[in-house]
Amino acid sequence: MPRDEERTLEIPQDARRRAAFLQRELARHGRLYYVEDAPEIPDDEYDALYRELIELEAAWPELASPESPTKRVGARASERFEKVPLSVPMLSLDNALNEEDLDGFLNRTAPWAAGGYVCELKIDGLAVSLTYEDGAFVRGTTRGDGRVGEDITANLRTIRTLPLTLSDFPRGRVEVRGEVLLERKYFAVLNEEREERGEPLFANPRNAAAGSLRQLDPAVTAGRRLSIYLYSVVAPERLGLASQREILEWLSRSGFPVQKAWQFCPCGDAVKEFIAAWEKGRFSLPYATDGVVVKLDFLGTWSEMGSTSHAPRWAVAFKYPPEEKTTRLTDILVSVGRTGSLTPVAALEPVTLSGTVVRRASLHNEDELRRKDLRIGDLVRVRKAGEIIPEVLGAVAEVRNGTEREFAMPEFCPSCGSPAVRLEGEAALRCMNRASCPAQLKEGIRHFASRGGMDIRGLGERLVEQLVDKGIIRTVSDLYRLQADPVAGLDRMGQKSAENLINAVAVSKERPFSRLLAALGIRFVGARGAEILAEAFRDVQTLSNAPEEILASVEGIGPVMAASIRSFFAREQNRKLLEELAELGVRGALPAAEEQPGEQGSRFLEGMRIVFTGELESLTRSEAETLAKGAGAACSSSVSGKTSLVVAGKEAGSKLARAAALGVRIVGEEEFLEMIRSGRTS
Ligand code: NAD
Repeated sequence: MPRDEERTLEIPQDARRRAAFLQRELARHGRLYYVEDAPEIPDDEYDALYRELIELEAAWPELASPESPTKRVGARASERFEKVPLSVPMLSLDNALNEEDLDGFLNRTAPWAAGGYVCELKIDGLAVSLTYEDGAFVRGTTRGDGRVGEDITANLRTIRTLPLTLSDFPRGRVEVRGEVLLERKYFAVLNEEREERGEPLFANPRNAAAGSLRQLDPAVTAGRRLSIYLYSVVAPERLGLASQREILEWLSRSGFPVQKAWQFCPCGDAVKEFIAAWEKGRFSLPYATDGVVVKLDFLGTWSEMGSTSHAPRWAVAFKYPPEEKTTRLTDILVSVGRTGSLTPVAALEPVTLSGTVVRRASLHNEDELRRKDLRIGDLVRVRKAGEIIPEVLGAVAEVRNGTEREFAMPEFCPSCGSPAVRLEGEAALRCMNRASCPAQLKEGIRHFASRGGMDIRGLGERLVEQLVDKGIIRTVSDLYRLQADPVAGLDRMGQKSAENLINAVAVSKERPFSRLLAALGIRFVGARGAEILAEAFRDVQTLSNAPEEILASVEGIGPVMAASIRSFFAREQNRKLLEELAELGVRGALPAAEEQPGEQGSRFLEGMRIVFTGELESLTRSEAETLAKGAGAACSSSVSGKTSLVVAGKEAGSKLARAAALGVRIVGEEEFLEMIRSGRTS
């Protein structure tokens, strides 16, 4: 019997099965994580499976094919981007998940460690490689599978802290590498926006950064406020650099953002001190870190120790265990969102997690609640996902004493008492009383007045509560009817603060149209969507009349947003609100005159007489006429000397010929739509 087969037979069945299962599962999770930026399991769960596979493959090396996730880096570059071969592979890092692993690394590297180590915080972001030619940024890529990356140059250019040109920089080509990240506060805002739009949330800042950077539209990336830190240089010896310390100093000197927290550690004990010192300290940083990268300092040792196909041998990533604690679930509250969704929220005995005191955690929806089988009074395990979002992992069921109470979602809205309905295909229960549910109104006002919306300073949560509870405000438009006296009589308010609020409300009338749109909270329309719509349609009237096909044809809008906008404007209540706002002077200011594309803005077809002829492709005749009328034109069915414009669809006949004979301007459907979008006739 050949030797290999003999040894294969020695591998226990269940080890072989388990290894095959782990390889499959890890490959699947890798794809979800690296390609789709949407992992299903937390990193530490992935790390545990990965570790188990490494151990199995170490015990029976035949189990490890070159395709095993332990032998590979990341995932293959996506077809959506141009692929770029990397000049020098971008590898991963081996993990040290506990002190024992760390000791293993320190022992293995000890013979090379006379020159000491450098410790850096491991930023939870996305690795990128940047190429500069004669000091100018020319190309940037992702890590891809470590050998072929994705060209994301245009997106990287939108990162404000990435230097585009560097004076006093070596001539020729220089490649530097580092991490793109999203600071905690922007991560939180991004997820809030996504939750409101009913989009899936990013699990952690790294996925959010990756999802933001791997966008086909750089404008989306630009809206996400990413940052970058550099930590490595390709072929550093060409620049005369001999150690990681020199690399970091050189990067700083050259004008690249470099994390300040790095430190030279002469020995293993100093490495351990650094790790211990930052275990808590890292929570005060504006971005998430999940560990410490320990590298041998002296570059000569890097080539001596070499790398595996997965990671260098001269470095390790020590990962801090996610901070998990137990606390008491004192109650389950039900909050009502702006769109009426009922969300169960855990009320917790206060507990400090990743540097802040946590009292509440969303339990998301009824299904999630059932899956976790939580009862009021339970001792529960909690942690912060991606160091940011408090999460209840589950109950410690063994210590239940029988006093715990089961919880069921209410059948009625806790705010207004209307029936709670579960719509088809939705996980959430909803209160359908959009017109007068106080909780929805409060959330709607909060959203309307928020920073990304009309930015009404001083209109905080407690004030909104009181204004609605006291009946001073019954609709969003009532904000613009506020009188100082009743406001001054509210808790913690006085004459002066009431006047300040009324001034702030008045100032908000000047906010641009895009902000008004974002403030309305149309489902799926976030800050960027609102900007695109404002640019394309210029005012409420034109937008509210635009048929779905026109909306969907605007770049960056798409069918889902288009349908949502249509259904928003189809609701009588919303139209009425916008009319009231307009009467009160809230119309959404147009951009400054020089930026206006059309001469008369929204009514740019005023005084024109338009005839439509032939079959239009993307809209019906009456929709087209509505658009034209909305922009001030009159429409007629016959061509005469008074006709200013003929819009000709397919198979246009005699009217077209007559227009041509009279010298009337003729445009096609596309050109007409472009006029409507841009607000100009040329
Ligand atoms: P890694 O994130 O563990 O470490 C390597 C990376 O660290 C480098 O590519 C670099 O981007 C980064 N890094 C940050 N700061 C650095 C510094 N100062 N110096 C050098 N590098 C620095 O490895 P990986 O291969 O990018 O990802 C593997 C990890 O991703 C796993 O350990 C797991 O936690 C996570 N993952 C999770 C899932 C999931 O389903 N949840 C799936 C796949 C991977």
